[in-house]
Order: sequence, then structure tokens, then C-alpha cells
Amino acid sequence: RAKAEGRNTLRFFEKGMDEPLQARQALKMELRRGLIQGEFELVYQPLMDLHENKVAAFEALLRWRHPGRGLISPAEFIPIAEDTGLIVPMGEWVLHEACREAAKWPGPVGVAVNLSPVQFRKQGLVDTVAAALAASGLAPHRLELEITESVLLQNSDANLAELHALRAVGVRIAMDDFGTGYSSLGYLRSFPFDKIKIDRSFVSDLPDDPQSTAIIRAVMALGRNLGITTLAEGVESARQLAALRTEGCDMVQGYFFGEPMAAGDVEQMLQQSPRI
Ligand code: C2E
Ligand code: MG
Ligand code: MG
Ligand code: MG
Repeated sequence: RAKAEGRNTLRFFEKGMDEPLQARQALKMELRRGLIQGEFELVYQPLMDLHENKVAAFEALLRWRHPGRGLISPAEFIPIAEDTGLIVPMGEWVLHEACREAAKWPGPVGVAVNLSPVQFRKQGLVDTVAAALAASGLAPHRLELEITESVLLQNSDANLAELHALRAVGVRIAMDDFGTGYSSLGYLRSFPFDKIKIDRSFVSDLPDDPQSTAIIRAVMALGRNLGITTLAEGVESARQLAALRTEGCDMVQGYFFGEPMAAGDVEQMLQQSPRI
């Protein structure tokens, strides 16, 4: 009987399959359906420039508005989208949507888009990026692509070449979650990143924790000496902000300045041109 119902059904109800695996299987099928039905949307979080004391850009963050389960966070579905390869069409949609939205913002305001390592392994990422820029009319320098070091970890030479090809299109490249991987420093030598985004785990205990302060200070010196913009993630308090200013951090991002917001709210925020 299970056979007649199709292979997916059989797999789905297989005996002995543990609960998490079953949930994962269900999510895979749901993801495909959700993508087709346009259930994904982008929210935007401001990236603040501490020299100009104003918004410099917004990071586009993916959300899934599931009809039954409400808003689902990317931590829950991106690993599965990567497993199934769905991240490729999904990531293409993200690029087009983020560029289309950012093209409405005032000239200097940029947009940052996260890329999955899986997108790097597929042919045509450079073409996809160029197509998103062309379709939206967004100037290439206003788009920043965020990658984690896992991109450089696998298939390093090909991925490095891909990064250089992206740079040649005119977009900027940021290293995301800096400090959480194994050899972040080596990657800074292999590729000239425009920005390093220091992971929020180094920010959360500022300013009281001397270890965190020492690490932040060292990363700021590194950025300064390499000519790379430094951004601290996960800033939640005025005290953290003050410590980061003291250490010479260029940019910050976090709930203290704004949670990720709907596209419509971005335009409203920019009209008020808020200052820190
Ligand atoms: P990320 O790129 O490091 O993005 C920053 C995450 O930190 C976001 O979580 C953001 O909402 C959260 N955050 C911002 N400020 C604060 C703060 O002050 N405190 C705390 N505790 N958290 C803060 P989010 O939106 O859940 O995204 C999680 C991760 O999912 C992202 O981490 C990124 O790696 C991935 N992601 C999101 N959108 C996309 C996408 O379009 N494509 C791909 N490939 N990955 C994405
Ligand atoms: Mg990011
Ligand atoms: Mg990050
Ligand atoms: Mg992070």
C-alpha cells in the first residue's frame, strides 16, 4: 500500500525513523512548496557607520512565512535548503529581491546579502549576481556579499577564483562571523576582503570581560593595518557601543540600533535619516 502512495510517502512513514529525521523530511517537502508559492521574504537590519554616525547599509535576512507555522528562522531551514540544493534558486531569488529593493533607497545606502557555500559550488554565481544588478539597476558597489570562511574551506582554489570574479563585477565582499572558524587569519591573507564582521560572541561580554576586550582590540588593529573595514555584530547595549567606539570599530549592527525590519519600514527609517 505504501508503494502505491509514492516513494516520498513511504519514506516519510518508514518505521524506526526518529522524530527529528521525520520532521526534517517533512520540512524538505514543505520548503519546495513554499518556494514555489512565494512564502519567502526578506527583512532588513541597519548597519551603522560609527564615523558618520548614520545608517550605511542594510543586511537582507531571509524569513519563511509558513501558512501554518508562522515565521520560521533561517537557522531552521537553510541547512535543509543547502542539503537539497534548493538554496541555489532560493539564493538567486534573495539576490534579485534585495537588489530590487535597495535600488529604491538613496544613493549611498548599500545592501548586504548572505551567500551559502553551496552557491559557490554551482556554476553561474557571477552571472546571477550580474543579472540581479542589471535587472535592478543597482550600482555594483552598493551590493556587498557576505560569506563565511566555510566558503574558502572547501575547494579553495576554485572558490578563491570565484571571489575574484565577483570582485571584478564591482561588488564588495565581507567575511561574516569572523573568529568562529578555524583559520580566519589565513583567509585574510588569501583574499582581500572589504570588511570583516566580528561575530557577536566577541561582543556580548563587552566591556566587562577583559578577554573579549583584548580580542576586539586585536581585530581592530588587524583591520586597520590591512585596510579592511571592521563591523561588530550583535550590539545590544550602549555600553557595548561605547567600548567598540573606544577600540576604533568602524561599523556596528545589532538590536540596539534596530531589529531586522520589513522593506516598507526601511524606507521610512531612511526618510528620518536617524543618527547614532
Ligand atoms: P548572520 O549573517 O550572521 O546574520 C546576523 C544574525 O544575527 C541574524 O539572524 C540577525 O537577526 C541576528 N542579530 C542581529 N542583531 C542581533 C543582536 O543584537 N543580538 C542577537 N542575539 N542577534 C542579532 P537571522 O536573521 O536569524 O539569520 C541567521 C543566519 O542565517 C545569518 O547569520 C545567516 O548566516 C543566515 N542567513 C540569513 N539570511 C540568509 C540568506 O538569504 N542566505 C543565506 N545563505 N543565509 C542566510
Ligand atoms: Mg550575514
Ligand atoms: Mg554574521
Ligand atoms: Mg553571526
